[in-house]
Parts: sequence; structure tokens; C-alpha cells
Amino acid sequence: MRKKFIAGNWKMNTNIDEAKSLAKSIVDTMGNTSDVDIAICPPYISLSAVSEIVKGSNVKLGAQDVHFEAKGAYTGKVSCSMLKSVGVTYVIIGHSEQRQYFHETNETVNKKTKAVLEAGLLPIVCVGETLDERKGGKMDSVIESQTNGAFAGISAEDALKCTIAYEPVWAIGTGETATPQQANEAHIFIRKLLTKIYGTSTAEQIRIQYGGSMKPDNAKSLLQQSDVDGGLIGGASLKAADFAGIVKPV
Ligand code: PEP
Repeated sequence: MRKKFIAGNWKMNTNIDEAKSLAKSIVDTMGNTSDVDIAICPPYISLSAVSEIVKGSNVKLGAQDVHFEAKGAYTGKVSCSMLKSVGVTYVIIGHSEQRQYFHETNETVNKKTKAVLEAGLLPIVCVGETLDERKGGKMDSVIESQTNGAFAGISAEDALKCTIAYEPVWAIGTGETATPQQANEAHIFIRKLLTKIYGTSTAEQIRIQYGGSMKPDNAKSLLQQSDVDGGLIGGASLKAADFAGIVKPV
């Protein structure tokens, strides 16, 4: 039985005061939740402050990205050990916005996933097709190359520490949600890919979140699906009440 996992991706929203206040509201309302795993992923600049707020609660801290190198002349970048030093547990890797705007490739996703695991952090690896890819019948091949690319050279033991977020790009921030059936079909497809790499027992344990305009009013039907093991939430994670409304129906 896979425990549901809801993570909030705040993206480039919240200054430090707003981040602290949002984190406080989330900890106040959901900090004792134990039947669902919860994480919040504020911008880098607020990680340290939010870390103090979530400490001792069941809300874990996540980062939105990382660089795969350990240190050096990489202006603007942050390493795994830096994230670890401020209390980060999870790291989002390969978000479609990183792929679209910042040259993220399957190869860099793989390097980041390996670096995160090596540091003892837990990757949330994002995969998902664009609307053109879906319309052009390329959905399966895109998801397959993203999944195989991300997990290349990663052992079954390490794969068990990963979460996959299936995020159809056409549903992110658009208000358009995959139907529960569409989401579940994609999740089942991803699990089959994982089965090919790692075998059934490992594949059955890896959590696959859905992401793309998940809100309190559609969360329940998505989360009831057999292979939807949680959500990666963008817009609706910026209000504690909305985030709670997604965590609650699980
Ligand atoms: C996301 O960016 O991971 C996401 C799912 O965003 P939204 O919920 O706003 O569609």
C-alpha cells in the first residue's frame, strides 16, 4: 500500500515574509497529519526560514531544483549539500518549466537525480507530455524516454527513494486538468515502464503523483484512482486552505 504524498511547489512566488506566513498556516492546519506525507517547496531564498517553521512537524521541506555539481563556478546555482544544510528532504527535478525555459534535458535530470540520491535527499522526478506531443500520438514515447532517461544507472534500492510526478504540460497552470482516467492511464503506463526496469515488486512501491491544476474540488476524484499516489500542486499550494482541501480528501 503506497502512502499518499502531497507536495506544494510554490514556484517563483512568495517573498520571505509571505513564505513564512504561508508555512506557518500550513503547519498549523496540517502539521500533525500522519496518514499523508506532505512537503512544501518554497523558493531557495526562503528555505532556511521555512525550515525553522516546519521543524518538528510532519510537513517536510522540498527544493524546486538543484545543480548536479558539488561546488564551484556555477553562478546562480545551488548544490545538494547546500540544500541538505538547510534541512531539505525532497528535491523537485525536471519540472516542465525547467525543461521549457532552462534547458533541462533527460541527461541533466539523470545527473541531478543521481546527485540528490548520493546526498541522501529524495528526488521528485517530473515527467509529462506537451499538448502537441499528446495530439501527435507521441505521449507514450515522450514519457518513456523521460522515465528511462531519469532512471538510467539508478539501482532499484535508490529508485525506491524516488517519487515520480506525472505532469501533463498542457494541464500545468492552465486550469485544465487531466481527467482521473487520463491521469490513471498515464500512471499505469509509467508503472509498467518502472516494472520493465526494476521488476514488479519495486515498481509497485514507487509513488507517482499527479500534477496539473489539481485543486480541492478535483483532488478527490484524482486521488481515488488506483495508481495516483498523491499530487504535486502549484497554484493551489499558495493558499493554506486550498492546500488543506487537497490533503484532506486523501
Ligand atoms: C506544477 O507546476 O507542478 C503544477 C502542477 O502547477 P499547477 O498546480 O498550478 O498546475
